[in-house]
Amino acid sequence: MNITPLNTTDYDHIVFFTGAGMSAESGVPTYRGSGGIWHEYRWEDYASQEAWKRNPDKVFDFHDERRKEALKCNPHAGHEVIALLEQDHPDVSVVTQNIDGMHQRSGSRKVTELHGSIWRIRCEEEGVIHEDMNPGPYAARKCNCGAWLRPDIIWFSDYLNPNILSQADEIVSRADLFISIGTSGVVWPAAGYPQLAKSGGAKLIEINPEPTELSHLYDQIYPDKAGKVLQKLFDLLHLNIT
Ligand code: NAD
Repeated sequence: MNITPLNTTDYDHIVFFTGAGMSAESGVPTYRGSGGIWHEYRWEDYASQEAWKRNPDKVFDFHDERRKEALKCNPHAGHEVIALLEQDHPDVSVVTQNIDGMHQRSGSRKVTELHGSIWRIRCEEEGVIHEDMNPGPYAARKCNCGAWLRPDIIWFSDYLNPNILSQADEIVSRADLFISIGTSGVVWPAAGYPQLAKSGGAKLIEINPEPTELSHLYDQIYPDKAGKVLQKLFDLLHLNIT
């Protein structure tokens, strides 16, 4: 595939909008696709507030497993390209639907996590969110106040955190280059971000081996894997991903 590298100085604010396909290339299982988590587990039993209320230990066991799986995987060259670009360019942001912390592990700092993180936990009694970077299971399942903790993740039927949403809206609205990677664009409100960026006048690029429901919105489409395309697009082929 012929890819002309972008001149990053042409853009004031670059936004990378990532989904499960970005991490799939690192080996993190997707949810819906072939080999996806929801073929093995019913989300109703593991990823909803009701499931957690019914049986918090069962939900914790499931999420401990997700942490273990994520730690077996490493960021790929595509993650590294984004992190390097943040060091070189004054305004690079990541808005991600992923919960695995892979962008931060590769060195990205300006990451907005729309759907939460498996590396955080919260006490709903006290309304406090804690980081839990223990490289394994969650360090605790109960808060010091005695209440159950819960993974700080947006489960099915949960509302998104309004502060995170307005932060993401602000970032996406002022993008002049918006690059969407590995998202099918069907999960809302994230699925509205390409249109929001377009309305703000951004150039839109999609990187995804498969066409998506939103492909028609994009100015340029690269139907290939994230790592390969990102290296070419930002002229960082020396990272040499296979
Ligand atoms: P999705 O599973 O609906 O779509 C994934 C997309 O990635 C597909 O369109 C697929 O063609 C594409 N893809 C696969 N491999 C790719 C590659 N190497 N390079 C580029 N693209 C590739 O994902 P979604 O749109 O993010 O929605 C899924 C929801 O599930 C999100 O809400 C997300 O929070 C959650 N989720 C998160 C993780 C994670 O944190 N790693 C994993 C699974 C699901």
